[in-house]
Amino acid sequence: VIYRTPFFLPLIYPELFWRIPTTKKEVYLTFDDGPIPGPTEFVIQELANAKAQATFFCIGDNVVKHHDIFNKVVEAGHAIGNHTFNHLKGWSHSVPDYMENVRQCQEVINPPGNAGDILSNRNLFRPPYGRIKKSQIDALWDFRIVMWDVLTHDYSSTISPSQCLRGTQRAIRPGSIVVFHDSLKSEKNLTFVLPKILAYLISEGYSFKTL
Ligand SMILES: [Zn+2]
Repeated sequence: VIYRTPFFLPLIYPELFWRIPTTKKEVYLTFDDGPIPGPTEFVIQELANAKAQATFFCIGDNVVKHHDIFNKVVEAGHAIGNHTFNHLKGWSHSVPDYMENVRQCQEVINPPGNAGDILSNRNLFRPPYGRIKKSQIDALWDFRIVMWDVLTHDYSSTISPSQCLRGTQRAIRPGSIVVFHDSLKSEKNLTFVLPKILAYLISEGYSFKTL
């Protein structure tokens, strides 16, 4: 199981954000696939306890279904990013279909008239599964496309919560963008790992930044 992104990927895709170069102890926590009842509410509470800010890459369909929880994320001051409306795998979709799904998500996370208001005025995007074609990257020219430096594997049913914690803890370094999932699949690892990672990062002197 590899927790840290291999060094060559950012060299192949330098236009994507993998890590924010810095020597300061700063970390960018990100949460994908919400908002949903349970896991997202857990994350909001843990982040509040740790006085930490994070970035949530939301699935548009979940925003529509669980708008009250989405509003809680926004009200807590976290940054919001686009993760398509239906969690599309870029490699299996044409550019127009993919962009239409991105647009639908953008409409619910940042409705017209609200631009630059509560939500971040940056257009943040993370491709589901990290799978995206060069032509789709080009079409998303007005988005900041955020990949990751550390993948927690919280969704994996084959690693234990303590393995997930150890691997994540070892992989984090200054400027790391770290991926968690506020999803049911991740719940078991997430509920164990997140409070401990937050406590570890605080004890190490890290500050929490948003993208
Ligand atoms: Zn996802």
